[in-house]
Amino acid sequence: MISEAEFRQNLELLQEQLANACGSANRSIEEVQILPVTKNWPIEAVHYAQRAGFSRVGENRVQEAIEKQVGIEGINWDLIGHLQSNKAKLVAGRFSRVQTVDSSKVLNKLNQALEKSNDQLGIFIQVNTGKDPAKAGLAEEECKSLLEEAMGFSTIRIEGLMTIAPFAPNEPTIARDAFSKLRILRDRLSSQFNLPLTELSMGMSGDLQEAVMEGSTMIRVGSGLFGHRS
Ligand SMILES: *Cc1c(COP(=O)(O)O)cnc(C)c1O
Repeated sequence: MISEAEFRQNLELLQEQLANACGSANRSIEEVQILPVTKNWPIEAVHYAQRAGFSRVGENRVQEAIEKQVGIEGINWDLIGHLQSNKAKLVAGRFSRVQTVDSSKVLNKLNQALEKSNDQLGIFIQVNTGKDPAKAGLAEEECKSLLEEAMGFSTIRIEGLMTIAPFAPNEPTIARDAFSKLRILRDRLSSQFNLPLTELSMGMSGDLQEAVMEGSTMIRVGSGLFGHRS
């Protein structure tokens, strides 16, 4: 794994890249949060992020995150990987947010577990706006009913929407289109239900520019901070 000094360099570069993207989009850099994605890296990655001032990281597997949580204080954990409903009970009390809620089944399992442990959880609804068969997430037209159902649970705070754009590094308009659709959907649902839905979790190392142009409030960055695994 990279050294902490290299991590700091990557972070500086990322912040520069983000500042440029915000500049082109006429947005303030404070509007876009960086979520360091520590998946596949040892616990040291979380320490790097924490020492650089981050209080939240993203992980994509429940078990891997739980292992890292032992011995770390002061970090909020976002689940950004697909959640199987049989793992929902492990999430309660351990994660502060699940960004990948995309079915009534998972929603209900989460609610049951949260009621039992008397915990609350923030969620994003994951939407497959890019219609990528390889990606999880609801179709745009399925969001309304899941949102209505989630609004009925006092254990759950619905904080926004999340998407993963199709991988098409040479055609940035594909990602941009997926991000634009997520923002339009958020605006529509938000006014329909009089719900803030403040967060738009969209953009990763390779497509954060497009995401910022389309209103992202949270970019999820793994390789841009920690490098690629060799
Ligand atoms: C791994 C992952 C990221 C980070 O991807 P990078 O391209 O490494 O920045 C973001 N979001 C999700 C859902 C991921 O699984």
